Amino acid sequence: MIYDLLVKNGRIIDGSGIPSFSGDVAVSHGKIVELGRLGGPAKRVIDAEGLIIAPGFVDNHCHYDAQVTWDPLCTFSCYHGATTVIIGNCSLAVAPVRPGNQEKLIGMLSQVEAIPMDVLQAGMTWSWETFPQYMEVVGRRLGVNVGMLMGHSAIRLYAMGDGSQERVATETELAAMRDLVRQGMESGALGLSITRNMSHYDVTGKRIPAACAPETELFALTDMLREMGTGVVQCGGGVVPEIKDRLMSRLSEACGRRLMYNNILESVRAPGRWKQHLAIVEDTCTQGNRAVPLCTPNSSVSFFNMKNCQSFRQLPTWLSIMGASDEEKLRAYGDPEMREKLRAEVDAPLGPDSRFSKRWDLLFVDEPFLEKNQKLKGKSVEELAQAWGKEPLDAFLDLAVEEELNTVFGFGQNNSDRDAVAQILSSPYTVIGLSDGGAHVQFRCLVGYSTRLLGYWVRERGIMSLEQAVRRLTFDSASAFGIYDRGLLQPGLAADLVIFNPDTVKPGKQEVVHDLPNNGWRMRDLAEGIHYTVVNGQVLLERGEHTGAHPGRVLHNALYSSAHSDQD
Ligand SMILES: [Zn+2]
Repeated sequence: MIYDLLVKNGRIIDGSGIPSFSGDVAVSHGKIVELGRLGGPAKRVIDAEGLIIAPGFVDNHCHYDAQVTWDPLCTFSCYHGATTVIIGNCSLAVAPVRPGNQEKLIGMLSQVEAIPMDVLQAGMTWSWETFPQYMEVVGRRLGVNVGMLMGHSAIRLYAMGDGSQERVATETELAAMRDLVRQGMESGALGLSITRNMSHYDVTGKRIPAACAPETELFALTDMLREMGTGVVQCGGGVVPEIKDRLMSRLSEACGRRLMYNNILESVRAPGRWKQHLAIVEDTCTQGNRAVPLCTPNSSVSFFNMKNCQSFRQLPTWLSIMGASDEEKLRAYGDPEMREKLRAEVDAPLGPDSRFSKRWDLLFVDEPFLEKNQKLKGKSVEELAQAWGKEPLDAFLDLAVEEELNTVFGFGQNNSDRDAVAQILSSPYTVIGLSDGGAHVQFRCLVGYSTRLLGYWVRERGIMSLEQAVRRLTFDSASAFGIYDRGLLQPGLAADLVIFNPDTVKPGKQEVVHDLPNNGWRMRDLAEGIHYTVVNGQVLLERGEHTGAHPGRVLHNALYSSAHSDQD
């Protein structure tokens, strides 16, 4: 047989966690044919001497729902070895959508996931109404594979209109929402995403629809997955309700499907909570439950200025300013009367889900704007406050106002305790991912979570074997989201491969790039050490360059796949 592709002389890590071995991987018709010492011939041969051949990574928590329509590669996940991305998370989606509601839907995506509205407006060409129509449009041209979750916010808005942000659904509306879930699952969606993150608002400052739904509605909608016998549930903001009364576990138990929720991390905002949380997850999973949190290998320093800042959005006065124009923001942050209101909210006791930790020692000046302030670079707000004899809040806002809101601040509240992060990443009861690809585009590009796991946590810190790390990025992630024909190198499975150098792989540097619609800018991270990304047997990226191929496809749930055996 003449193979389409033969990757030779590599070190094969098959994604199952078994020890690696030397050999070749043969591919034909988009699928893996065999592994081992293979002769050929082949239409194309890649020499992988000194490199690892692994299954492509599954980037399981992304918000490329809009971006995928103008960027079929879903940059930049594939530069870090991802061959599959999963979109439609946290209840946010761009289908179904009624004519006239398009702006409202992308407004939520813009507000919650920090994608500039003008970028979304310029980039979107709406040519669908239903979820199946959206799937069909996206599937026409794809670089990577895309798995889609249906978003509860889009579904609720579609079924209830303005009422979706105001009230409980009627029997008829609930039935309509259940029908939409059924329709999406029948067309192959991987599952349904919901949210309990109560600080997600739309552009008008109203909670997004899914956050307005009572718990009974979550049970009624996820029950459709039980009825159909397939699919997964994803939930944003699941930690507080899980710790409080096991809502995540109860939902998963009731519908009998796997549920992944955001997220477990070590945070100075709630010291020790990660440990309590992990103990709960271990306990419920030991009892046979399938509700597990996502986690990230990234240290989470977020960068922002006071034009795009989200750190204070739980505080009402701050939130109202954050929705105003830049001129109004500048005026408000400098206004003494307003300052006292802001101070009162910051000084109030922390809630269980507070996003702002009051840790002024961890909030630092990353890039001063004015020449005379360059010496402040790297200084924490606490240090500035001491030096200037002011309260930290005043030091912070005075600097921001002086520099007309152009100061870039960094805030590192999460995952700074390395031992805690190592335990979280190594637990079999967590799923690694959470890149937020396509979201928060001007803060930091986090799609390098995979290359950071391999470069930093495995190579530098040795917290797990390379085989184990690859399994976490591939088989574990694929299985968690109900993707059963990928995530392993085995004959008959899809030929999604990443070929990388274990000695050099790591995230690249964060840089600004102006490549979004309407000349919008975002942060970019191109990995180091990733030599090839292969999707369905075709080389998508070769040493960081797109080959021009578009081999990706829309992935489907297991039920759909068995009913349409020609698919996937
Ligand atoms: Zn999300």
